[in-house]
Amino acid sequence: MMRKKTIILVLFALATLPSIAQQGDPRATEVWDPEPVVVTPGEGTLPPSDAIILFDGKNLDAWQNEKGEAAAWKVSDGTFTVVAKTGGIKTKQVFGDCQLHLEWRSPAEVVGEGQGRGNSGIIIQGKYEIQVLDSYDNRTYSNGQAASVYKQHIPLVNACRKPGEWQTYEIIFKAPRFKNDGSLESPAYVTVIHNGVLVQNHVEIKGSVAFIGQPKYTKHNLKEPLVLQDHGNPVSFRNIWIREL
Ligand code: MG
Repeated sequence: MMRKKTIILVLFALATLPSIAQQGDPRATEVWDPEPVVVTPGEGTLPPSDAIILFDGKNLDAWQNEKGEAAAWKVSDGTFTVVAKTGGIKTKQVFGDCQLHLEWRSPAEVVGEGQGRGNSGIIIQGKYEIQVLDSYDNRTYSNGQAASVYKQHIPLVNACRKPGEWQTYEIIFKAPRFKNDGSLESPAYVTVIHNGVLVQNHVEIKGSVAFIGQPKYTKHNLKEPLVLQDHGNPVSFRNIWIREL
């Protein structure tokens, strides 16, 4: 008889356990430190308060050409445009893990086709290219169209606007890490949002951009310049800002 009573008591205690836990102190799971730093968001796509401005519409002072001389691309009306055959331009400052905002526009007048139409590129760390291309009704290989990780990852969808319209890229990049012996410790990852549409969802980058053959990693600094590609087409840019992570 006594034994039965004990069993009933134990069962009752077990049945009420979760409710006792739920009645515990909610403050036990609150985390107050660290407190996130206050950042004032920008209006629309304008930079938040902690962003590094890479182009504010006035000059290319934050940039230089591949030889380290003044960037020769053309600045006008708050934008700048690739000047063919002057080469790519790179930031004077170097970056590792980052959030990048950039706006680009392919020429309103359609010239050429496939890879020859509105081609430029956002070459993160001078090695990992997010393709810029006029991919509006312009078929090319899928892993080379706009917002592809060039020859590595096809964008999830084609979110291109018409030629001559401004387009946005939000890029979240995690830089690769290398061991002292030069081997890869952890690969780079990238997320890309094109005109508000997710097109690359935390994809693993396989190595430096390769036009021919397979990409592979070569050890480099944790922080490297951001490069914009001269592919011979007059692609324009504006409102470029970056946040180090
Ligand atoms: Mg390109």
